[in-house]
Amino acid sequence: MPETSEQGTTAQATPAQGTTAERAKELQSEAKSQKQLLRQSKRQLAMVFDLNKCLGCHTCTVACKTLWTRDDGMDYMWWATVNTQPGKGTPRDWEKMGGGFHEEEPVAGKLPNRGDFGEAWQFNYDEVFFGGKGNSVHLQPAGKPDWGPNWVEDQGGGQYPNSFYFYLPRICNHCTNPACLEACPRNAIYKREEDGIVLINQKRCKGYRFCIEACPYKKIYYNHVAQLGQKCIFCYPRVEKNVAPACARQCPGRLRFVGYLDDESGPIHKLVKKWEVALPLHGDFGTQPNVYYVPPLSPPRLDADGNIDESKPRIPIEYLKYLFGDKVEASLEKLKAEMAKTKAGQKSELLDILIVYQWKDLFGPYTQDPSALEPRKA
Ligand code: SF4
Ligand code: SF4
Repeated sequence: MPETSEQGTTAQATPAQGTTAERAKELQSEAKSQKQLLRQSKRQLAMVFDLNKCLGCHTCTVACKTLWTRDDGMDYMWWATVNTQPGKGTPRDWEKMGGGFHEEEPVAGKLPNRGDFGEAWQFNYDEVFFGGKGNSVHLQPAGKPDWGPNWVEDQGGGQYPNSFYFYLPRICNHCTNPACLEACPRNAIYKREEDGIVLINQKRCKGYRFCIEACPYKKIYYNHVAQLGQKCIFCYPRVEKNVAPACARQCPGRLRFVGYLDDESGPIHKLVKKWEVALPLHGDFGTQPNVYYVPPLSPPRLDADGNIDESKPRIPIEYLKYLFGDKVEASLEKLKAEMAKTKAGQKSELLDILIVYQWKDLFGPYTQDPSALEPRKA
C-alpha cells in the first residue's frame, strides 16, 4: 500500500527501497527527526503570572485583542484570556477536552466548537451613542447569548461564608514539547530557535485543526474566514525590538514577568528555578509549558460563629494541586514563611521580586518604550 509522507506526497515502495514496512519505518524516523528540528530552541522565553496580584481587569485581554485579533474571522478570538477559578474557563470546560501527552504518548483531544468559545457579541452602540434616543435605549447584546469567554465571571466556588475565587490569566504556553507541533501533518508549527516562541507558519497551514485537538490548553483558534489556525505569538515583533508583550506591558497589577528561563539574574529564573514558587498550569498535560504561576494564597476560613479558623485554607489545597501539581503546598509555605520574615522586619529577596517596586523589573531586557520606536512603514 502506498504510504503518505508528511508533505502529502505519495511514496511507492520499490525493491531498491526495501519492503513497504521498511519504507514506512524509514518515513516514520524521518518524520520524527523533522519534528525534533521544529521543536529545538537554544533559549526559552517564559512568563510568570503572580495570581495574588491579578485584579481581573482584562486590560491584558484588550491590549492583545487591539493589537492582534481584529481581522476578519478573528472576532471570537481572545489569545490572552482571564477566567474566574473555579469555573469552566474558555473554551467551556477546556480542561476536560483532552490532548497533550501521557507517558510521552499523545492523548486524543476534542475539537472545541464555536459554541464552546461563545460568539463575539454584537452591541447596539450606534443606537445608544449616536441614535438621538436619549435614555430610552440601553446598551445590550443582540440576540440571546448563552455563553461567552467570561460567562461565569466572579462566581467561583465554596459556600458562604467561605466562598472564594481567583483569576487565572492564560496565553499559549509556548511549550517545550508542544502537542500542537507534534500533531501538525504540514509541519507548519515550529519553535523559534532563538527564543522558543511557538509560531504557526501561516503559509504552510492548511487549516486541518489537528493542532487544536492536540493542544490540551485549547489555545489555538480556527479562523473560519482565512481557514487557518491562529494563536498567541508572544508579541514577537515587539520582543525583537526589546518591547515587552502587550499583555504584560499594559497589566496594571504588575504581575506578568517576562524573561529567559536561563537568565540567572532575571525574575523568571529566580521565581521558577531558585525559589521554586512559580509552577506550570497542568504540568500533567505533558507539554512542558513555559508560562508559570505563583499560586494564590487564601484568606482564612470562618467557622459557624463567624470566627477566624486558621486550621484550613479557604481555597481547598486539592483544587490547587489539580491545577498546579503537588509542589503547590511547598510554594505556598515558602510564600507564607517569607511574609512572616518581612513582618518580623527582615529582608526577603522573594517578596522584593514579587512586589515589583519598579515596573521595569518585570521585563529583563524588554523595557523599550514602544512609542519611542519608528512607526512601521505601510
Ligand atoms: S499551549 Fe497549546 S498551542 Fe501553545 S505551544 Fe503548548 S500545545 Fe501549542
Ligand atoms: S491586566 Fe493584569 S491585573 Fe488585569 S486581568 Fe490581566 S493579568 Fe490580571
